[in-house]
Amino acid sequence: MPESDKVIELAKRRGIFWPSYEIYGGVAGLYDIGPVGTRIRNKIIQTWRRIFVEENSEFVVEIESPLITPSKVLEASGHVDNFTDPIVECTKCHKIYRADHLIEDTLKINVEGLKPSELTSLISEKGLKCPACGGELGEVRNFNLLFSTNIGPYSGSTGYLRPETAQGMFTAFKRVYETSRQKLPLGIAQIGRVARNEISPRQGLVRMREFAIMEVEFFIDPEDNEVPWLNKYYNEEFRVLFKDAKEKGGDPVLVKVKDMVEEKLVVNPWMAFWMASASRFVQSLGIPSSNFLFEEKLPHERAHYSSQTFDQIVELMGEKVEISGHAYRGNYDLSRHSKFSNEDLTVFKKFDQPRVVKRKTVIINRDKLKVNPDLQREVMTMISGKSPEQINELLERRVQVSGVPLSEFVNVIEREEKEHGTKFYPHVVEPSFGVERCLYLSILSAYREKKDRVVLSLPKEIAPYHIAVFPLLEKEELIKKAKEVHEILRRKYEVLYDDTGSIGKRYARVDEIGVPYAITIDPQTLDDNAVTIRDRDSWEQVRVKIEHLETIMDKLFSGQEFSMIAGEAKK
Ligand code: AMP
Repeated sequence: MPESDKVIELAKRRGIFWPSYEIYGGVAGLYDIGPVGTRIRNKIIQTWRRIFVEENSEFVVEIESPLITPSKVLEASGHVDNFTDPIVECTKCHKIYRADHLIEDTLKINVEGLKPSELTSLISEKGLKCPACGGELGEVRNFNLLFSTNIGPYSGSTGYLRPETAQGMFTAFKRVYETSRQKLPLGIAQIGRVARNEISPRQGLVRMREFAIMEVEFFIDPEDNEVPWLNKYYNEEFRVLFKDAKEKGGDPVLVKVKDMVEEKLVVNPWMAFWMASASRFVQSLGIPSSNFLFEEKLPHERAHYSSQTFDQIVELMGEKVEISGHAYRGNYDLSRHSKFSNEDLTVFKKFDQPRVVKRKTVIINRDKLKVNPDLQREVMTMISGKSPEQINELLERRVQVSGVPLSEFVNVIEREEKEHGTKFYPHVVEPSFGVERCLYLSILSAYREKKDRVVLSLPKEIAPYHIAVFPLLEKEELIKKAKEVHEILRRKYEVLYDDTGSIGKRYARVDEIGVPYAITIDPQTLDDNAVTIRDRDSWEQVRVKIEHLETIMDKLFSGQEFSMIAGEAKK
């Protein structure tokens, strides 16, 4: 059985995740996250929040915006027109496939970014047939992935379930900017559910129809390349497959953040900052840096709004999964929302020194026009909506109004003015993670088999519980003592207490859900007040006094190796 199937089996057996609405046969792409899965998922979110929000709290804030989105917002963002995937239908059995995946899986080539007509040609050139019935495949067409709904009882007010949280941050930008420090850079983070009507959701949590996203929309002044915050990541390095190498079939390179910035391999230093944060985050999920890389998208593979995109790809057990996307969105979003909402979403940048600029101004001789209302109307119609430069052109062409030169009534002069600043649309850098993909990949990476048993070696930061406490036998005095130990430890740690079934089964359960340490209270404890701590990964055990338990746990959770503790205890 492949590892991914084993993980799915483990997830069902231990309450991590399973298909939703199972009793009705399930719905592809919809998953329940179970009691153990929810604990791990919450910790993954907490870890993301620590690295992306809390560590940058001087310039990143978090918000929540609704899942239901009015049509206008997604028209402005381009989703109503462009959020599509190509599909193809069998003309015989009418099964529908995602066209690009069908071609990629059959021909083992990359067709990302090709137009429907190009995919149709490929299908007919290569003679691809319906995998289910061997029938002819039809024309490839685009299918929109938005789930639509009505907002309220009126049929005209179309809404959609958001396909990403980003639009909520763009539409809230002005208010967040005004209510926070009114300075760039400004990051708006959000963690929330999204819905995409995926055509053929794959097994597990990789391609779902409803999932959660953790993303930051990071608003910057594109002319400000001073990024002092980048210092903490300057010497960090990770693997990147740059687009030039990718085009030539080359390999990824190990590159330092410092070099990415100095050699301008990223369009803006902040791209490197968020990629470095992503690298740290993915490593905190227990995925080693050798198992992921950033792959730069080629121009035709990028979304319409992006001028540079890197996907962070995790490779585990032969599976390649995009865990995060990093896009430079430029001013696309704010300028589009400004246009569609008629709200000014620019920010004002004050110059260090006022600048003197020459500006053309239109002067209208109203006294002369006042006496002839017809002429006044004609003149105003002629100049309305025109810039001073366009009016100047009319004057140079000696245009007349009812036989009188326009210059009798209108003049354009050049004035020197002091400018104290300028208005501009901030640019946006966006790192975006799927929560359930993080959950799935953490589990896949932690999955081990040891002597026919399964051990989930999750990092302590994301383990569902810190410690398990067991009485060895179902005896009243042992249960009483074990509950005392539970009470002591739960003040500081998340503790799973379990007194049912054989001790072997209880150890197996906590190993399979990834609890780092199990503490057992046995009959001898009643005499010597000592308990056994068992390490999940090595299965090594050490006996310690209850009064030392908390200090020992503190050491273990601040990074000390179990073998060191065991060594000290034996002395
Ligand atoms: P995107 O906006 O498509 O770049 O998606 C952002 C992130 O969401 C990706 O990097 C994935 O981690 C995750 N993601 C995208 N689509 C799905 C899906 N159908 N199911 C689960 N996670 C997804």
